[in-house]
Amino acid sequence: MTPQQLQEGILHGAPAVRRRAMAKAITLLESTRADHRTQGDELLTALLPHTGRAFRLGISGVPGVGKSTFIEALGLHLIAQGLKVAVLAIDPSSTVSGGSILGDKTRMEHLSVHPDAYIRPSPSSGTLGGVAEKTREAMLVCEAAGYDVVIIETVGVGQSEIAVQGMTDMFCVLQLPNAGDDLQAIKKGVMELADLVVINKADIDPHAATRAQAQITSSLRLLSMHGNPEHAHHDESLWTPKVITLSALKGEGVDGFWAAVQEFRRLQTANGRLAARRERQSLAWMWERIDAGLKQAFRQHPQVRELLPRLQQDVTAGRIAASTAARNLLAAQSGQALQATI
Ligand code: GDP
Repeated sequence: MTPQQLQEGILHGAPAVRRRAMAKAITLLESTRADHRTQGDELLTALLPHTGRAFRLGISGVPGVGKSTFIEALGLHLIAQGLKVAVLAIDPSSTVSGGSILGDKTRMEHLSVHPDAYIRPSPSSGTLGGVAEKTREAMLVCEAAGYDVVIIETVGVGQSEIAVQGMTDMFCVLQLPNAGDDLQAIKKGVMELADLVVINKADIDPHAATRAQAQITSSLRLLSMHGNPEHAHHDESLWTPKVITLSALKGEGVDGFWAAVQEFRRLQTANGRLAARRERQSLAWMWERIDAGLKQAFRQHPQVRELLPRLQQDVTAGRIAASTAARNLLAAQSGQALQATI
């Protein structure tokens, strides 16, 4: 299919045609071939005016916390209200091993077959930055295809949470009702990213869940003193991060979760924070890709390739300072005369 046909299918196709066009478009965007990249850019430019109306919801949590159970319950809840839901994933394990924590097919068994849901597993190759880029682009495809809520799921390990927080309107962290985990997450700095913390599996021990809720609430208050710029805490017109408890398995508290999301959206739209967050994200995305592109071009530059092995040896053997080697390589790439130190 040409980019024009894909665009037509995504924007105006009947449901089956639309899904096929979405899948093909996302595969095209995931390709690293230069001609595919050009076609992909053409498609994105055409789709862009039709994006931006969806709510972008990030959901993170360690394996086993109940993400897929929760997203299934939430997705079906939203569909029952007449909304269309897309679920995308960023799985850092799949980029390293080709295996996937998030991708297996038995997850979300009812949601995955529902005509108003679209679920796509994590791209399984490339660096985290590359995977994040593909997921952002897939998100735009889903928005152009008319999905009202795009959920981006990731596991609670490593840098992937920062990537997801950096592409969503609201970032939610799922937690178990267990104090040890809470401290762990706070230490890792993930809590600072959270707009909403969800204590799942509250059905197992409601008291433990309530205790965890109180504990995390006070930890968040403490963190707020250090100031996440997204959150200001003494201004009624701004969102204050919340902690709620629920049971994804029993579907209890899912409506309360969605009410909190809507409250967040209402407040942050009214005070302009949502629009500002998206603007910041778009520019950060652009610079991230510029950095990655420059680095790649640098590594491929003939002179750099020639000099690099020897300079690396010189640096590791202590014959030349790392900063001097870097300056020399940058000079080689920009075609300047090499410094006398080489
Ligand atoms: P994920 O790895 O984060 O996607 O977690 P899953 O959704 O696969 O859930 C892991 C396990 O926890 C499964 O056996 C679920 O049935 C169970 N689980 C998920 N949510 C709840 C809950 O609210 N209560 C209880 N008791 N079990 C849950």
